[in-house]
Amino acid sequence: MCATLRRLGKYELQERLASGGTGEVWKAFDTQLQRYVAIKLLLSTVQHDPDFVERFQREARLIAALRHPNIVPVHDFAFAREEGSTITTAYMVMAYVQGQTLADYIRQTIRRGQLPPAADLVYIFARIGSALDYAHQQGMIHRDIKPANILLDQQFPGARPMGEPILTDFGIARLKSVSSATVVGAVLGTPLYIAPEQAQGRDSDRRSDLYSLGIVLYEILTGVTPFRADTPLVLMMQHLQAVPTPPALINPSITPKLSGIVLKSIAKNPDERFQSAQELTVALANALNVPLPPVGVASVHLTPPKAVNPFDTLPAAYIPPSPISSPAPATPAIPAAPVIPPSKKVDKRNSRVTTRTLVLSGLLLLLLIAGSVSAFFVFKGKTTPPTTSVGQIRFFGSVQARAGSYDSLQITLHNLPTPAANHIYYAWVDNPGIEGEQPHWKMSDQNGNVQMTNLTYPGYPNLLIANSLFLITEEQNTGNPIVPYTDPNARRYYAKISSTSTTVFAVFPCPPSSSSLVCITGV
Ligand code: ADP
Ligand code: MG
Repeated sequence: MCATLRRLGKYELQERLASGGTGEVWKAFDTQLQRYVAIKLLLSTVQHDPDFVERFQREARLIAALRHPNIVPVHDFAFAREEGSTITTAYMVMAYVQGQTLADYIRQTIRRGQLPPAADLVYIFARIGSALDYAHQQGMIHRDIKPANILLDQQFPGARPMGEPILTDFGIARLKSVSSATVVGAVLGTPLYIAPEQAQGRDSDRRSDLYSLGIVLYEILTGVTPFRADTPLVLMMQHLQAVPTPPALINPSITPKLSGIVLKSIAKNPDERFQSAQELTVALANALNVPLPPVGVASVHLTPPKAVNPFDTLPAAYIPPSPISSPAPATPAIPAAPVIPPSKKVDKRNSRVTTRTLVLSGLLLLLLIAGSVSAFFVFKGKTTPPTTSVGQIRFFGSVQARAGSYDSLQITLHNLPTPAANHIYYAWVDNPGIEGEQPHWKMSDQNGNVQMTNLTYPGYPNLLIANSLFLITEEQNTGNPIVPYTDPNARRYYAKISSTSTTVFAVFPCPPSSSSLVCITGV
């Protein structure tokens, strides 16, 4: 879209960092001040609205007035028009942050089965929380808190190894609503983190940001967001109505206390949530037994807190809260098979369990399974041993593909059972790093055998992505899903694309959801 726009005033556009439906982010060089900047192009046509420029600038000034070490500083806002074009682009110039995003960090930790160190966790929430509370005091709501909007600055003086967490895209959601009709797309694009009141289009306040921060906390601890669905609309309904699975049911290393904190932070009713980010951070630090970094001071001024592995403080095992449970036993009893393996050995005292408690635990677990509203531990008859492959997938590069890219997929599967009535199989290339729509294809089957060739997906010049997951789900044949259905029972077959050194992958039945998260998180 902006390929021809190589220079904006004194800024030389050098490298496109990201591109989405509502804009592009470029690394650029400020030729006057001789420094790198990041430029966000808001790709909007100025409407035939005389107030537009004024409203846009008013919003922009509010954003640029925010001054906090953990908020990306905004240097400039302006408009540009390409020569001979009627399209005017509003753009925002901000400090360039060198480093990955929290979304990348989550992919590298919990999605690979490692809980981030407790001290890092508390640090992230202390710093981002401080930035949020500050902005809220200035009357600014972020409206799009999500891991992709938290940058981990590697060049921040005194940064921890993960980088200094810095919040970006402040007020962008609101700016977009001023700038164009794309706001609906912008909100619908990533409704994984949206607060119920925002989903309803009601007035959102600081507590809506805190809800989104709570969803981020849930994801860091479990590897998944509490709600995922086929369509943005269903997802929004889930934020409004669905009861989230307690995080401890997904990751048994999480204590009931920590689980309770997460659930409080994503309460449907804003009054029942934490009322400030600091309140959440204090609760989090207490639950993880980690000292709080001093408030309002970025890490540059700190001696880094002692690194604490959360498994030093988390119990080896505990009984997940059951909807039908009698009062929880005072001491942990079930050596719950850790779904996400701890990176450190657990305390032996906690793992010593008597036969009696084991039997009791077994019974409790059975009750839990029978009565649980959570689908995570219900396994619906996937009886094929997980070692038997049902076929394979093979990636190809078509004639149009760039060297080293594989834009075409072939699926060959045998003896699949007929899907349930009114259901159909879908094939997905599920890249946990990309939010929103994933490449997918409706599967045609011939008596349980599938042979599909030359499958491509618009916008995906390369389908073979390391650490992604090939999935087959059973979906209702009425909808038009854009992400694989999250119900573990709907996830039927998978192939782990752990490396791109090969192009052929065997496809296996999904293991029971209670014994493996591979078909949910890819771990
Ligand atoms: P999203 O909707 O995912 O937030 P954006 O259009 O905001 O999409 O692009 C976000 C990506 O752009 C980030 O994930 C990051 O890689 C990059 N980015 C955004 N702001 C900056 C910045 N100030 N410095 C460096 N990279 C940035
Ligand atoms: Mg962003």
